[in-house]
Amino acid sequence: MAGIYIHIPFCKKRCTYCDFYTEVAPKLIPRLVDSICKEIEIRADYLANNQIDTIYFGGGTPSVLKPEQFSAIFKAIYSTFSVSENAEITFESNPDDLSVQFFESISQLPFNRISIGIQSFDDDDLKRINRRHVGNQAVQAIRNAQHAGFKNISIDLIYGLPYQTIEKWEKQLNMALIMNVQHISSYGLTYEEGTKLWEQREKGEVIPVDDDTMNEMYLLLVKNMKEKGFDAYEISNFAQKDYRSRHNSAYWKQQPYLGLGPSAHSYNLVSRQWNVSSILKYVYAVENKTNFFETENLSISEKFNDYVMVSLRTSEGIDLEYIKTEFGKKFVIECLENSQPFVDSLHLNLTDNRLSLTSKGVLISNQILIELMKV
Ligand code: SF4
Repeated sequence: MAGIYIHIPFCKKRCTYCDFYTEVAPKLIPRLVDSICKEIEIRADYLANNQIDTIYFGGGTPSVLKPEQFSAIFKAIYSTFSVSENAEITFESNPDDLSVQFFESISQLPFNRISIGIQSFDDDDLKRINRRHVGNQAVQAIRNAQHAGFKNISIDLIYGLPYQTIEKWEKQLNMALIMNVQHISSYGLTYEEGTKLWEQREKGEVIPVDDDTMNEMYLLLVKNMKEKGFDAYEISNFAQKDYRSRHNSAYWKQQPYLGLGPSAHSYNLVSRQWNVSSILKYVYAVENKTNFFETENLSISEKFNDYVMVSLRTSEGIDLEYIKTEFGKKFVIECLENSQPFVDSLHLNLTDNRLSLTSKGVLISNQILIELMKV
């Protein structure tokens, strides 16, 4: 099984916290779609004969594409790869794109999952981080998706936004939980160098929420999700029964994936590849059949670190049997040695040959990760 990720690097405007590669350049969309279709042809062999189990349009803002542009990409994918009949097919979207007319226009496309970048339902929060939508549009977008027949809806929420209090965060959670969605991804706000938000913090225009409050917000998130029957299957991801993201779960289970479009990453169990982070350079290279990606062959330690980094965040945790089979006994011994202090301090659970974070371990997961990756 394998996945395909398509990066649509267009945004109508930039959110202050975002460090993804995107541009505000809608004129380039038709050329980019053509190039993605050509890239599919060029990289037809990358996933060998693996069947495609998930297709994910991420961004940027895939919902800026026209139905015929999505169709062209689907046509290229289906004529090149074998896609399983019940493949999970997702697109990310911004609430203000999700009108009734939009859903009518994509009704013939094979999407069966939608991920909506809500972030907050609060108008002041949204304005401060320069999101395009307001709270009412977020609610309407979810309703429109439900009326259009989407039965697998994921929403994104951010906690620790500037000036957000615990009470305000709880209000956002309550709002999210009455919307009857199947999946919620929620991340604490981070200040990434080079972003507008970083600059605002440096100038003292924005005061970050302190670490203790961030932890309290996270614990509140987990508590609320569990109370409403969501499975906390990854540190930042919560799903109703049978609604885990198959696409992301495949990344965490070390399955191969092909990333298409500018800045997209690919992994085929042997090497990592990443496409150039520039629409113009990407399009030019694809059109002229020159190289548009870099490749790095992974050493065994790098593969081990990749595995530890993603699996530690999941509720299943690190599988020591898998490490023994894939990397050898030496890696198991060192992993156990490095994890022992955290097992003793009850930050890690060691059961059934698996190491997983306890609820207090989640709060220091980065520190634990650094120790476990020391092999
Ligand atoms: S819409 Fe998404 S990708 Fe675009 S700037 Fe905002 S956070 Fe980044």
